[in-house]
Amino acid sequence: MPESDSPRVESCDLCIVGAGIAGLNALFAASRYLSRDQKMILIDRRSRPGGMWVDVYSYVRLHQPHPMFAAGNIEWTLGQDRPHLATKREVLDHFRHCVDVLAERVRVDEYFGWEFESQDEVNGVVRATCRGADGRMLVVEAKQLIKAYGLAITPNEPLAISSERVHSVSPDYCDLRSGDIRESRAPVWIIGGGKTAMDTAHALITAYPGRQVNLVAGRGLSSPAETASYRAVPGDGGRAQCRALWPHNWVAGSTARTNLRFRTGTAQPMART
Ligand SMILES: Cc1cc2nc3c(=O)[nH]c(=O)nc-3n(C[C@H](O)[C@H](O)[C@H](O)COP(=O)(O)OP(=O)(O)OC[C@H]3O[C@@H](n4cnc5c(N)ncnc54)[C@H](O)[C@@H]3O)c2cc1C
Repeated sequence: MPESDSPRVESCDLCIVGAGIAGLNALFAASRYLSRDQKMILIDRRSRPGGMWVDVYSYVRLHQPHPMFAAGNIEWTLGQDRPHLATKREVLDHFRHCVDVLAERVRVDEYFGWEFESQDEVNGVVRATCRGADGRMLVVEAKQLIKAYGLAITPNEPLAISSERVHSVSPDYCDLRSGDIRESRAPVWIIGGGKTAMDTAHALITAYPGRQVNLVAGRGLSSPAETASYRAVPGDGGRAQCRALWPHNWVAGSTARTNLRFRTGTAQPMART
């Protein structure tokens, strides 16, 4: 290999892969034990801290009082009351704030846009091999490596349906508050009763007051175990499955004021026209 192609090598005391909430909690814990002259390296394939929050649909909100979503005991700077459900921008700002606070305590070198590919261990030192978006290679030699790289949840494609009259979209690829959906007054059917469905229902009833919004919520919203997943059977007879992560009741609280309807059962009849 020509010398110019040799990977860059960086050394550190601790390398953390993943700058989501797990990675920042690892960073926080380490900051309590490492001294100022020790070095940490934080690696993430994304361009900024925040983990899945960086790419998730734009109208996502935190589903717990924001101080509960924390990296260690680093306080939020929002100036909002405790029950406030932080928006995506607020959550991402908080992630940035946490890294900045931690960087004041310990040395943290940030490597965003780098993909961790593999590791090996030689004489008690871990060598983590990473690739940049432009193909450059980086080897991080670390005394310790923490892999906090999440669950790699794959966003759902829109459900395949047989009707051309029904416009099937996925919130991961389309902002439901704009475009064709904004132009139309047609009823909306949300398939799912979990976190994304709740955020979507809330976004729709807020953006389109009075519009009919229906929620197909598997076997029901009352039991967390049952609402944690649903089965939707698309028009072609195939089976699509989607997991909903967070059962909630806060949208239910607003149904009295809106046109949101709850349905239970599978999505099969709803996908046909
Ligand atoms: C739509 C949605 C809404 C949610 N809402 C909430 C909520 O309101 N409240 C709540 O508590 N939880 C919520 N969650 C759960 C959420 O996943 C966790 O709260 C938390 O954000 C997960 O943090 P994490 O650090 O484990 O993983 P992630 O946030 O996924 O972070 C892992 C990071 O590792 C990086 N990474 C992965 N592999 C590599 C690699 N090979 N090289 C370099 N970097 C890599 C990724 O780019 C990512 O930035 C939600 C999840 C989803 C999908």
